[in-house]
Amino acid sequence: MRKGKLLVISGPSGVGKGTLISKVLPRLEKTCLARSATTRPRRQHEKDGREYFFLSREEFEERVRRGDFIEHVRYGSNLYGTLRSEVERNLESGRNVILEIEVEGAMAVRRQMPEAVLFFIAPPSFDELRKRLIGRDTEISAEIETRLARAGEELALQEKFDYIVINDDIDRAADELEQKIRACLEGGKT
Ligand code: ADP
Ligand code: 5GP
Repeated sequence: MRKGKLLVISGPSGVGKGTLISKVLPRLEKTCLARSATTRPRRQHEKDGREYFFLSREEFEERVRRGDFIEHVRYGSNLYGTLRSEVERNLESGRNVILEIEVEGAMAVRRQMPEAVLFFIAPPSFDELRKRLIGRDTEISAEIETRLARAGEELALQEKFDYIVINDDIDRAADELEQKIRACLEGGKT
């Protein structure tokens, strides 16, 4: 059986990765979203095992020691990691797997799995990114500033990605992302 493809969707927090993926994923055949593990506290609408596997720091570190992660990073004061179990069994069974992760993790995935295709979601402007993060209202203002500082570093790395999609208008950007994903599923990386 033909193995699935690994699609990494990255970009700064608040740019709209989650929103775009929720629009594009239902349009794609045989494609799933890998759930990451994190030590971040659960947001009100989130459910363990749906958005993330929410782990204590001890549980997370134990799983790092066991080699359960393809990559893991510290982001703000929390840890996030891509679970091998979420990725490998799906790829083996022919399903494409989407990872929604930050930029350092995307670069680590590329080093380990060079066949992965990397998409960078960019904001139309830094000001708009700030507005979206504030508007989402999921972080306190100090955390928003930390995320924006990191966003500056992340934006500087966008040229390292295979594809860049600017999330200006959500429907336009979703169509562009879908079309770019289809092109890479059908024809290889370029
Ligand atoms: P991420 O997953 O990258 O952290 P989200 O998908 O949570 O970002 O989006 C952050 C906020 O921006 C949400 O409130 C979302 O509704 C909003 N948003 C996403 N895309 C757009 C867009 N194209 N135009 C305006 N607002 C958007
Ligand atoms: P949030 O706290 O907003 O859910 O996520 C913060 C950042 O961590 C986002 O940019 C998100 O894409 C990223 N992230 C989520 N899961 C992982 C993961 O498994 N690995 C890495 N490297 N980043 C992740």
